[in-house]
Amino acid sequence: ATGELRLLLLENINQGAVQSFKDEGFQVDFHTRAFSEDELLDKIHLYHAIGIRSKTKITEKVIKAATKLLVIGCFCIGTNQVDLNAAAAAGIPVFNSPFSNSRSVAELVMAEVIGLSRQLHDRTREMRDGVWNKVSKGCYEVRGKTLGIIGYGHIGTQLSVLAEAFGMRVLYYDVLPLMPLGSATQVENLDDLLGLSDCVTLHVPELPETKMMISGPQLAKFKKGSYLINNSRGSVVDIPALIDAIKSKHLAGCALDVYPHEPGANGKPFDNQLNSFATALRALPNVILTPHIGGSTEEAQRMIGVEVSTALTRYLRFGATTGAVNFPEVDLRAITADQTNFIRVCHVHVNQPGVLRQVNEILSDFNVEKQYSDSKGSIAYLMADISGVSESDVQAIYERISKTRANIIT
Ligand code: NAD
Repeated sequence: ATGELRLLLLENINQGAVQSFKDEGFQVDFHTRAFSEDELLDKIHLYHAIGIRSKTKITEKVIKAATKLLVIGCFCIGTNQVDLNAAAAAGIPVFNSPFSNSRSVAELVMAEVIGLSRQLHDRTREMRDGVWNKVSKGCYEVRGKTLGIIGYGHIGTQLSVLAEAFGMRVLYYDVLPLMPLGSATQVENLDDLLGLSDCVTLHVPELPETKMMISGPQLAKFKKGSYLINNSRGSVVDIPALIDAIKSKHLAGCALDVYPHEPGANGKPFDNQLNSFATALRALPNVILTPHIGGSTEEAQRMIGVEVSTALTRYLRFGATTGAVNFPEVDLRAITADQTNFIRVCHVHVNQPGVLRQVNEILSDFNVEKQYSDSKGSIAYLMADISGVSESDVQAIYERISKTRANIIT
């Protein structure tokens, strides 16, 4: 029963998510701050689930101390703060919300496309300094201009639709052949996109192949007077080369939201030894710099809350692991209300030969309505809905499966 399960929710996760756990009947302990490793070591044994954002570190040591823990929810995009392998080895799936903020990023990019085309941020800065500077030279409408999108995934496609609504022509380049939305056109290679676009925007993941994807040779292929926007990852653009391209007036400006080395906390200086280019960048005209806020909106936070709380609840109630980052993804269609005397068996085990045979032998005394199993690395996960089970059978099935070889959790 959900009332027996205790959840530790840290780092002020979205209130909608907290309420949804309460509505499900879970016992909820809510804290606005992150916990240190020592605090976690002290308390984690009490909990069946934990919800965190990016500041609470779930180390192997914490996972070893988490004797009751069934699931970890990261109410954010990244999962670096969790030792994913240690969690998987302990039979604990980890969920996050990688795509809840796609629309927020796409909207910011549209603002930047217009901001760059109108030199909006330079005019604003001048006015803030008390200077009236009414200019139209070098300022353009976006209507009829070409937006080149590199990476046509969750964000790239959202942006494609918004840009067309503004009357822009959209080209995109992706390693996969992807169905265009609206009248967008996929181009064969990156150079074609660079040479045809008035504004190029990056929406690729951080991968070895995307590291410094836009560097000196690529910048040379941009149209003269075009713009670059990077809201993807800091490793994708060679910033010193970009600075040169703007200084030489080959590019007419850029908008950056991500950097190779981002300060760890608000209030910390952007100019530091690691970002040695920062001073030069800040001095350039028509440069929009934002502190990795592409996905930072109330709506995205709310969406993250809904997505991760739903994933945790579905795992705790039905064993579903769809969307887990470190775990085999297993789910079965919901059991219908007219089926009686049935249970769902969820068994996480070491991925080795013979386990399914042993488990199925135990289940063969009953009617197996549905069954599915999958593996990821050394972990495998079996889910089976069986009927014809009496209450006294449940404990016996549990104990027999617990005694099988290769058992991790039961
Ligand atoms: P996604 O996985 O949905 O899409 C990425 C696309 O890039 C895919 O279609 C993929 O095929 C394509 N791709 C991969 N390698 C490529 C390559 N070498 N050349 C061309 N295309 C390639 O990702 P998404 O959710 O759209 O996110 C895109 C980027 O935005 C990621 O780097 C993500 O970290 C970043 N992001 C930033 C913010 C922010 O706050 N600024 C917020 C969310 C996401």
